[in-house]
Amino acid sequence: MRKKNVSIIGGGIGGLGVAALLARDGYRVHLFEKNPTLGGVCNRFSEEGFTFDTGPSWYMMPEIFENFFGLFGEKIGNFLNLVRLAPSCRMFFDEHPRGIDFFSDFAKDKNAFALLEPGSEERIELYYARARQKYRFVSEHIFRENKETLLDYAKLFFKKGGLGMGLGAVSSMDAEISRVARTPELRAVLQYPAMFLGAGPWRLPALYSFMSYAAFEQGVWYPKGGMYQVVEVLVSLGKKHGVTYHTSAPVESVHVAEGRATGFALEGGKYFAADIVVSDADRFYTEEQLLPARYRDYPKSFWENKEPSYGVLLLFLGIRKKIPALAHHNFFFNRGWKEQFRDIEKGKLSADPSFYIGMRSATDSSCAPSGMENIFVLVPVPASTAVSNDELDRYGEKVMRKMISIVPGLEKGIAFERRWYPQDFAERYHSFRGSALGLAHTFFQTGPFRPPHRSKSVKNLYFVGATTNPGIGMPTCLVSATQVFKEIRAREAM
Ligand SMILES: Cc1cc2nc3c(=O)[nH]c(=O)nc-3n(C[C@H](O)[C@H](O)[C@H](O)COP(=O)(O)OP(=O)(O)OC[C@H]3O[C@@H](n4cnc5c(N)ncnc54)[C@H](O)[C@@H]3O)c2cc1C
Repeated sequence: MRKKNVSIIGGGIGGLGVAALLARDGYRVHLFEKNPTLGGVCNRFSEEGFTFDTGPSWYMMPEIFENFFGLFGEKIGNFLNLVRLAPSCRMFFDEHPRGIDFFSDFAKDKNAFALLEPGSEERIELYYARARQKYRFVSEHIFRENKETLLDYAKLFFKKGGLGMGLGAVSSMDAEISRVARTPELRAVLQYPAMFLGAGPWRLPALYSFMSYAAFEQGVWYPKGGMYQVVEVLVSLGKKHGVTYHTSAPVESVHVAEGRATGFALEGGKYFAADIVVSDADRFYTEEQLLPARYRDYPKSFWENKEPSYGVLLLFLGIRKKIPALAHHNFFFNRGWKEQFRDIEKGKLSADPSFYIGMRSATDSSCAPSGMENIFVLVPVPASTAVSNDELDRYGEKVMRKMISIVPGLEKGIAFERRWYPQDFAERYHSFRGSALGLAHTFFQTGPFRPPHRSKSVKNLYFVGATTNPGIGMPTCLVSATQVFKEIRAREAM
């Protein structure tokens, strides 16, 4: 029998994952990426002896990566040299300018919790136990089985003893954390996983506190050589099974005839026929820009009411000296951490920014010249490209002043600096309204309310990646890839 042709739009983690799985199953797979390098937002650049990761920096939920490689009969340890970070992160507050370390080990971390709120340890331990339970539920039922409709979820929550989890979906992460943490500092620490989900913690369902289990118990890991190693191993896996990768190959339009995708045209006019099309590009962009109007699943008004995650101002800094004051992962929380998200929702820059600093040279000397540091600063800002880059530059100066108050003399050591703005995400990756992460994980953009994997209007068109289910994050995009693969296989067998 002729092998079916699958064409994939976009070489982000989801696209690379599904490409490798389909190729291993015998499909003839071609992947088309508009940019010169694969990886999507998980990317890197090298300049003046520094190699910067430009997107994800936290390697969490390691068993999802292991399971994914297990599908190929491979062990991830044979591909990645993973280091468990200790501390997993350092949290700075105005009251604690030297930072407080967290090790993803309750026996050690309880002292830090006590410092931020004396007497909180027992409540935190109970919170952890609930987070662990939620994590198990999510990984066993939501990650493993592809759920799409409200009915699917309702059945799951009632049948699998998940009623409490279901209620957790309607309450907010903030409400849950407020019950166990009273000081703003302790709340900020427990709420930091909200950063991975693209919205303020009061906008996120409480079910997402399962991320606290990932962050505070499972631990935070780092693949030596940088996060781009993940992209490289996915590509090598794909190549081994015969995937053909086309870079600098922007898809211009998906062709549809009688309700079936027949292939697509690249910019410049070249046409590729396909039996099955999978898009890893942003879902909104795929609908609005690549599909003919009559084959779009949603009207314009659907997208107008959707909320993008925050955008990011990124500062890439090469520093000419060592900075022992910083760990690999660092958060600077200002009093206005909560207001910052509210301001972002209103499209405003916050007066008092909280931000993240990654310094992977703390663990990996290969990313900076000897005696120097590689720093990546991520400042959440409105996703809209309406805030001008000049305004964002002034905001960046504010962040720099804050950093200098903690690392005196930092500004004198700058050997290299580059900035990325929401506009870069819109142009480079076609991301939803310039957001960094796609659709935020608010209640009405989660689970049954998030755009599903399969097109309702085009029979053989599928969607993978962060803007579909389960959502944002590298491991989650591998789950998405696995779910799409299973769905294609099941439908092809019908
Ligand atoms: C700054 C930042 C920090 C993050 N931090 C973390 C973290 O620490 N840990 C974590 O797990 N996750 C993190 N994430 C989230 C995670 O990286 C993403 O959710 C995930 O990588 C998205 O993968 P994806 O499959 O959705 O594809 P994307 O990365 O969105 O890639 C889609 C690809 O499609 C391509 N494309 C678009 N249009 C076309 C077209 N017309 N033709 C061809 N190609 C096209 C784009 O160029 C892009 O390469 C972070 C993300 C960002 C941006």
